[in-house]
Amino acid sequence: MDVKAIVVREHGGPEKLLYDTIQRPEPQPGQVLIRVAYAGVNFIDVYHRTGLYPVETPFVPGMEAAGIVEVTGAGVEEFAPGDRVAYAMARGSYAEYAVVPAHLLVRVPSGLDLEVAAAVMLQGMTAHYLTHSTFPLDQRHTALIHAAAGGTGLLLVQMAKMRGARVIATTSSEEKAARVREAGADEVILYDRVDFREEVRRLTGGKGVDVVYDSVGAATWEGSLDCLRPRGMMVSFGNASGPVPPIKPLVLTEKGSLYLTRPMLAHYCATREELLWRAQDVLGWVLEGKLKVRIHKVYPLAEARQAHQDLEGRRTSGKLLLQP
Ligand code: NDP
Repeated sequence: MDVKAIVVREHGGPEKLLYDTIQRPEPQPGQVLIRVAYAGVNFIDVYHRTGLYPVETPFVPGMEAAGIVEVTGAGVEEFAPGDRVAYAMARGSYAEYAVVPAHLLVRVPSGLDLEVAAAVMLQGMTAHYLTHSTFPLDQRHTALIHAAAGGTGLLLVQMAKMRGARVIATTSSEEKAARVREAGADEVILYDRVDFREEVRRLTGGKGVDVVYDSVGAATWEGSLDCLRPRGMMVSFGNASGPVPPIKPLVLTEKGSLYLTRPMLAHYCATREELLWRAQDVLGWVLEGKLKVRIHKVYPLAEARQAHQDLEGRRTSGKLLLQP
């Protein structure tokens, strides 16, 4: 059976996202075939497309979706056809159908739209591990969060506030800054207009922040290190502006015996228990209204190219979804 999908045949710009027809994938033992209702667009899809994160071509991009179980592979007992499910971290969601290992799936609670579930799995679990595990925040801490109006950023700000931390956030425009304030940030810096280092120094009385959550990468790396208090933690978790160049460990000494980590979601969902903890917290908070999800736009699957152009062009705030 033929189905519609986005296919990348060679690495490159958004024009390499081809709207095409592929053979419907078959679930192998332990896998589930999902009819995709909404696929999430994430910056990691850009890294896969450009080849920054190595992936063999041809491939179907997309690491996140929500939809309906169509067929289960041998040995799958937890799910059955018709179940409403969502997942992150299995590639191939920019398509009408995707196969996913059953151990990555979670049930979408009744009362929660598949659209919202697709919007919050990857970025929500990321914000969860960053605030609860990588650097467990509490009311004693001040955090600097870059790109705070983004899909991940808005969730990260809200979770940091839920943990009781003071949040200093950065973004690029007044319009985005208003959204970041609405999400609960205590201070917002327009980092393209002012030196965020000086602002952070001023706002912390010269002390520096306890942790920087930096997903911008190359453009903010140096400045971020200068914002930390002695023995603070640099959490470099993305490369939206390009990867951080190689560093000398002595730089960490010079800047105050800093800690540096470069985490990724898969390592923080290492067991089924850990995955369920994060996913159920995130989906539960959305259901309770404690965590707000901003959907920037739902694009038809055929317009994946436009979605990538908008994301990379810094024109978005919140989640981008594709609808097959
Ligand atoms: P966003 O919605 O945050 O979009 C990226 C934002 O980054 C832009 O809107 C823009 O915000 C900011 N930005 C700053 N400089 C640039 C630039 N040169 N080019 C493009 N964007 C820039 O995307 P996501 O929420 O999907 O991802 C955010 C980051 O988090 C990415 O780096 C991603 O790789 C990372 N991530 C890492 C994970 C992990 O486990 N390690 C998991 C999930 C996400 P502004 O206009 O405000 O500057």
